[in-house]
Amino acid sequence: MAKSFYDILGVTKGANEAELKRAYRKMALQYHPDKNKDNKEAESKFKEINEAYQTLSDTQKRAYYDQFGSAPGGSGGPGAGHGAYGGGNPFAGGHYETNFGDFGNLGDIFESFFGGGARGGSGAGQRRRAGPYRGNDIETTIKLTFEEAVFGKERELVINKLERCETCSGSGAQPGAKIVTCSTCNGRGEIRAARQTIFGQVATQRPCDSCEGRGKTPEHVCTKCQGTGRHKKTDAVSVKIPAGVDTGSTLRVSGKGEAGPLGGESGDLYVNITVEKSKEYVRDGFDIYTEKEISVPQAVLGCEIPIKTLYGDITLRIPAGTASGKIFKLKEYGVQKLQQRDRGDHLVKITVVIPAKLSKKEKELYEQLSQE
Ligand SMILES: [Zn+2]
Ligand SMILES: [Zn+2]
Repeated sequence: MAKSFYDILGVTKGANEAELKRAYRKMALQYHPDKNKDNKEAESKFKEINEAYQTLSDTQKRAYYDQFGSAPGGSGGPGAGHGAYGGGNPFAGGHYETNFGDFGNLGDIFESFFGGGARGGSGAGQRRRAGPYRGNDIETTIKLTFEEAVFGKERELVINKLERCETCSGSGAQPGAKIVTCSTCNGRGEIRAARQTIFGQVATQRPCDSCEGRGKTPEHVCTKCQGTGRHKKTDAVSVKIPAGVDTGSTLRVSGKGEAGPLGGESGDLYVNITVEKSKEYVRDGFDIYTEKEISVPQAVLGCEIPIKTLYGDITLRIPAGTASGKIFKLKEYGVQKLQQRDRGDHLVKITVVIPAKLSKKEKELYEQLSQE
């Protein structure tokens, strides 16, 4: 390793942030390629200065450097000394103009480049997008009766959302208007710019705002939607709720969210479901629970009792000698399982009612029974 980063910038090991910045600024101005045309030595010196500053101006990298004598490598970020020269483009957000003729805005650039956002190298890649964009998803909640959830139902939901403009079919163009090549981007759909910066020439690229990346614009925009291709509208959306949903179920209705701008794909509609409780049934998953009371003679001798189920009344045969608390399973009398053929079960819990009051006759009979 030749000169240390401190030596390159001409500062002491204890230099603080302001001193580093001042030294860097001075050196960068001196060796900037714009001021040293075709001077290879100045160019490599300029790169050296950058690498040194990018390491020393980052507390973590500086600590690493102090300890190991080299910059932490391999991150690909500006710290590795390639930020402005390689693929990562710290100026991708590029909304400021720079004028290197007189270095007037140099301070701003230092702030922008080293201030934080650009450092992670997350600029260019994540911003790239292909228009037209997809519309937003919408989320809504509906309340169903117990029966609606069990058997399914078609429900009409009224939703206020951005809908595709019928006048222009979402294109944003006034009907009959000529579609012309976007003059902002010359039909490319993106804005490219080569900027001279103190780090050399940097190419920037971003979607064109004028045409949303389409490369074409109408000569006259649609007056109904002001050229956005959509407008707020109250829409009735028919939602088919399948049998078996329960509180906590969410349905996704594809393409029923908001329309995308300029004819972009629509988002989805998410319908969250809550279900009212039933007076007659307790539901647990796809199973149904009910209770039924029988008398002591019914329990002792056996009987047939009517049971109300989701699918109509049936007769349940209780065998002789049934104890209180016994559970009978009515197989597949429960709730239709979501997107399956089979159903849950209906479980009937039997309670034998011991009479608290007996008629004279009953009392006699029980007394006879007890002497047996
Ligand atoms: Zn329109
Ligand atoms: Zn354009």
